[in-house]
Amino acid sequence: MSLLLSPTQIESLLGLPIYPTSVSAAGDAVFFLARGEEDKRLGILAAAGSAQADRFAGDRSEKGGLILALCPLTAANAQALRAAFAWLTPTTLGLRTSAGCGDRLGLATPGHIHAARAAPGIAMIFAQQSIRENTRTGRTPQDVMDDATWGVFQEGWREGYGADADHLKTTADADSTAAAGYTFFTVDPGDHVDDAAHTATFTELQMKVAGLPWAGPSPGSGQALDSSVADMKARYLGKPFDLEDLRLIFTEEDLFRAAAKYARAVLHAARMYRHLNGKITGRPWELEVSVDETNTPTSHLEHLYIASELKRLGVRWVSLAPRYVGRFEKGVDYIGNLLEFERSFAGHAAIARAFGPYKLSLHSGSDKFSIYGIAARHAAGLVHLKTAGASYLEALRATASFDPGLFREIMAFAIERYETDRASYHVSAELAKVPPLNTMSDADLPGLLDQFDARQVLHVTYGSVLNDARFKKRFFTGLAAHETEHYATLERHFIRHLQPLCEK
Ligand SMILES: [Zn+2]
Repeated sequence: MSLLLSPTQIESLLGLPIYPTSVSAAGDAVFFLARGEEDKRLGILAAAGSAQADRFAGDRSEKGGLILALCPLTAANAQALRAAFAWLTPTTLGLRTSAGCGDRLGLATPGHIHAARAAPGIAMIFAQQSIRENTRTGRTPQDVMDDATWGVFQEGWREGYGADADHLKTTADADSTAAAGYTFFTVDPGDHVDDAAHTATFTELQMKVAGLPWAGPSPGSGQALDSSVADMKARYLGKPFDLEDLRLIFTEEDLFRAAAKYARAVLHAARMYRHLNGKITGRPWELEVSVDETNTPTSHLEHLYIASELKRLGVRWVSLAPRYVGRFEKGVDYIGNLLEFERSFAGHAAIARAFGPYKLSLHSGSDKFSIYGIAARHAAGLVHLKTAGASYLEALRATASFDPGLFREIMAFAIERYETDRASYHVSAELAKVPPLNTMSDADLPGLLDQFDARQVLHVTYGSVLNDARFKKRFFTGLAAHETEHYATLERHFIRHLQPLCEK
């Protein structure tokens, strides 16, 4: 019997529905994803004695010279599948316009892919979680990677994808994600940013700068800035920086403020870069530097200082996330003056071209519909958009439509948890403004996901909801049973993120 079977023939042989887009041949075997009664299975059809099929663990039967195997979606099988198909292994994206779709549930990749197909040319990241998100969802970097792998396989997405180890703060975080095969490392030196420098007096700034780790035991060790106050002044003072239409001139106070605020962060980023460089060998990887989770906006002069110092310390990066003007609150549109954002972003883009080029990264990028076009235009496509919580919210929107009872319970619990759970997030939702559930019909519930306060309340409480035994299983089972609706909801929402990025 030939292995060149149609999806329908495979289904009748198997007695189970399969995902037609997943059917892929490698060597002497055909692989596909099947929908079992309880869960998904990796199916393999191969000639008897196939070496390919032997690399996977699962139930197998042999009939008429054919092996038919049904394998659980384990980490080992995911690893073997990545080895069989190069397009399943995450890759670097370089300077292509790109978008990262964090997926806290591990179910969203097919929906993200449906949206990506409607926005051709955008390089996608499907595996993306921070250590904080992993802690709150009880997943490991490997789980996140494998869930993305299965989603990419299900859809037969062969355009390549990246894997973002997001908001890495320590070398230990870097190690666990490097081991899991991540390709895009977002180093967050925010803990080393001195926000107090933002409003410090010049005298205070001079003291802070004098106290920086200028010299270490051996130059190039990454322990020190390998410079001096005099060197720094010579590098930045007494000359204009002309970057296209933007002319930047440091006063001594500007320079000391930039150094006091960011020098230790730059040094930490350089240390993380060196660490990763030593750790990851024999495969490509790329770096993003993010200072978005700090309290004060990054000025143009500060951005220039950061980029110039990173370069001086030998760091190479593909994207940088400054803290922009205005408010990037979770799960809602940009809050602030759009003209001011545009003017400011245009300057950041000029700096990124002059000192890179590198991409400007938009963190907390979910639902910032009013700025995507502005960003894509001014950066001429050198943009990375990062969304993390939107997929969870859209899963809730889908749930509200097919299981209103469960959604009401989750919403009521989120309201209870909000004041506690909001602590580490930029949100301004007020509980009093969430429409009362008991006045809403079931048909109105999905619309709550468009209401500012309800959306933020649901956004920041994901850890509590996913760790509560009352919800977790029902939530996941419901999404699995209604995956077509789930994917369609994600697709609708993410198209609105991705398509504006295509307009350069
Ligand atoms: Zn961020």
